[in-house]
Amino acid sequence: MSAQLLDGKAVAAQENERTRERVRALLERGVVPGLATVLVGDNPASHVYVANKRKTCKKLGIASVDADLPADASEETLLETVRRLNEDPRVHGLLVQMPLPKHIDEHRVLEAVDPQKDVDGFHPRNVGLLALGRPWMIPCTTMGILRLLERAEVGIAGKNAVIIGRSNIVGKPTALLLLSLHATVTLCHTRTRDLPGLVSRSELVVAAMGKAEAIRGDWIAPGAVVIDVGINRVGEKLVGDVEFASARERASLITPVPGGVGPMTIAMLMENTVTLAERVAGGLS
Ligand code: NAD
Repeated sequence: MSAQLLDGKAVAAQENERTRERVRALLERGVVPGLATVLVGDNPASHVYVANKRKTCKKLGIASVDADLPADASEETLLETVRRLNEDPRVHGLLVQMPLPKHIDEHRVLEAVDPQKDVDGFHPRNVGLLALGRPWMIPCTTMGILRLLERAEVGIAGKNAVIIGRSNIVGKPTALLLLSLHATVTLCHTRTRDLPGLVSRSELVVAAMGKAEAIRGDWIAPGAVVIDVGINRVGEKLVGDVEFASARERASLITPVPGGVGPMTIAMLMENTVTLAERVAGGLS
């Protein structure tokens, strides 16, 4: 039997509609939610992501505050830009697009973002709160995965979940969140032994490794739920980290690439921005 598709594009459109309603309510109170995106250099993928984020802001009525710096901008210039946006009352959410050029220390930059405006949830304080099971701002891709599972009414408590990839932006926060929701979590990386065995014993598989179709369809347990975060360019095509056609034959639910987690990440960025604006408007921040 072929798995049902977890259609991220369709769910993201519904979530954006809800966000638009929340924007409308804020506007009625005289608050224009604002998202600042800082882009350094000319990484082509980053340019596409940031352009998409800015476009979606406009569609939903969120003010987009753009700060673009050249590839040779100094770390100090970037830190000054972040500090200026921290102080800017038009800005409720602030993100610095990763990766940054090699001469810039990413950790220093992420620590400079005001944790109250940290829309990506990457500031050490917000990472710590997530690790403690008291999330204040959940990273957008992790939120997108969670929302897809919620909308499809996939229970998480008690599930054996495997996450492949331990990056700070996807794998680790997703592992922490699923753990706090009572899944039994296995977090895999390049030194993991017997990846096929671990995947085949899991009811929920989250692939976030950035390796085209590295998770083979015949590793997937019958009836498992498969979330493919990977975005890999193969010739003219985009493919995920999971061998889609064969995995679909075994899974019960599976995300496509493109049109799965990607649109959800942007939708959750918009939602997080509005949440931050509501917190300020409600004096909760
Ligand atoms: P990353 O390169 O920072 O991390 C990759 C992780 O995968 C590492 O922890 C590494 O140990 C692990 N890994 C790599 N090869 C492996 C292997 N053969 N076996 C086991 N583990 C292995 O990547 P990232 O930033 O977390 O992104 C992962 C993928 O997700 C990329 O394709 C990226 O483009 C995509 N991505 C998608 C979205 C989205 O919204 N859909 C958001 C962020 C990232």
